[in-house]
Amino acid sequence: MAEKKLSPETLCIKAGWEPKKGEPRQVPIYQSTTFKYETSEQMADLFDLKASGYFYTRLQNPTNDFVAAKIAALEGGTSAMLTSSGQAANLFAVLNLCDAGDHFVSASTIYGGTFNLFAVTLKKMGIECTFVDADAPEEEIAAAFKPNTKLLFGETLTNPAVNVLDIEKFARIAHSHGVPLIVDNTFPTPINCRPFEWGADIVTHATTKYMDGHSSIVGGAIVDSGNFDWDKYADKFPGMTQPDESYHGLAYAQTFGRNAFITKATVTLMRDLGSIQSPTNAYLLNLGLESLHVRMQRHSENAQKMAEYLSGKEEVAWVKYPGLPGDKYHDLALKQFKDGRCSGVLCFGIKGGRGRSIKFMDSLKLINIVTHVADAASCVLHPASHTHRQLTDEQLVAAGVQPDLIRFSVGLENTDDLIADMEQAFAALK
Ligand SMILES: *Cc1c(COP(=O)(O)O)cnc(C)c1O
Repeated sequence: MAEKKLSPETLCIKAGWEPKKGEPRQVPIYQSTTFKYETSEQMADLFDLKASGYFYTRLQNPTNDFVAAKIAALEGGTSAMLTSSGQAANLFAVLNLCDAGDHFVSASTIYGGTFNLFAVTLKKMGIECTFVDADAPEEEIAAAFKPNTKLLFGETLTNPAVNVLDIEKFARIAHSHGVPLIVDNTFPTPINCRPFEWGADIVTHATTKYMDGHSSIVGGAIVDSGNFDWDKYADKFPGMTQPDESYHGLAYAQTFGRNAFITKATVTLMRDLGSIQSPTNAYLLNLGLESLHVRMQRHSENAQKMAEYLSGKEEVAWVKYPGLPGDKYHDLALKQFKDGRCSGVLCFGIKGGRGRSIKFMDSLKLINIVTHVADAASCVLHPASHTHRQLTDEQLVAAGVQPDLIRFSVGLENTDDLIADMEQAFAALK
């Protein structure tokens, strides 16, 4: 609890694992599937959730929990869990509240993988998602809600369109319908934005991106603010408030209070579906978290410089970065993002359309073409032919992806070198 008063920079280093006398400075890796007990009854109490403790790494592992506790402290939440990927984090966040026959509402400008999950795979599982334009007036978004709507979803800074979500507006709409707001905070990370302060209830992450930050490990996290009152809407959320027969009739909200969401996801979804992060990956993730505050600042500064450089190039048709004063989301970014820092991702298009954008990308030497983003090494991607390839033209437009859009993830290199690489690629266009 004392941790909450520390600044984010200090939490990056200190939160989670707190070594005592003679213990290692670094988080120990509990590379073990199972944990030993002295009596059969001790273990039975764990299975009944009467005692807390570890028994099998498919559900929980101490290394993961130390690292999850750091992420919870950074977000200002009550509890968190690590998942094997960002996809698993968003899947579990939805499945924790929605059963077959339920419905939820999501912003349409979201990561392509999440869009597929919501539009195709969850639909096959009987869970229906209505996509809305996040910039639409409140009444229009509210019109998508139905009696069986269980949550509202959005991305705080969208991948790849870098739109900024008005979190307060979304929270107002969700709460006036008695449902929680879940936001994917992957791009800003809690260093640049803390969505709970603007009314979000649950935050998800692809830790694969900036939190790791070194293209090393795929992973995800779910963090609960502990603020949503499940009992107030008990009929809407029977899974949170009614007895669970798979745990002898225990009810999560009553038993676990502000930790109910993460406890339920751990003891039901992790138990039944797996998808936990490996302890060794959690250890590596923690190394990334220790420098997250320094890296986010540099990524943001470098992206700001590159956005300004690209804006001045004659060959560039358009640049999108909320750090640019003329950007549609500039004021919202200044409001919601710490010191107006907009992370390291920007988008631009080359004059002459799709083919010219691809030719430009192919001419880059220092900047890599990879299916990745939010890495120490700068990289570019053409979403229309890569991540968003499965989407129809209509869905592409809804996801904010123009055919000529180049997603540029600005790394930690010296920007003079990045500019020199772009200069030679522009020369190659002639
Ligand atoms: C990458 C990403 C995901 C998916 O994460 P994976 O770890 O690749 O499964 C989800 N949301 C956002 C915003 C992302 O950028």
